[in-house]
Amino acid sequence: MRWRDQFELCFDAERAEKMHHGAIREGEDHCSMCGPNFCAMKITKSIKK
Ligand code: SF4
Repeated sequence: MRWRDQFELCFDAERAEKMHHGAIREGEDHCSMCGPNFCAMKITKSIKK
């Protein structure tokens, strides 16, 4: 998860970062769109392990 790069690609990086941090705790490996139980990135990561 390259959140820093994602924020920097946003029109309003500061606001995007604030919203992200408001919804997701530091170190979580998903975002608020699909949530922790349905995050394809998280599931793929756990399968690779
Ligand atoms: S799969 Fe969904 S929850 Fe996971 S990072 Fe992508 S958009 Fe966010």
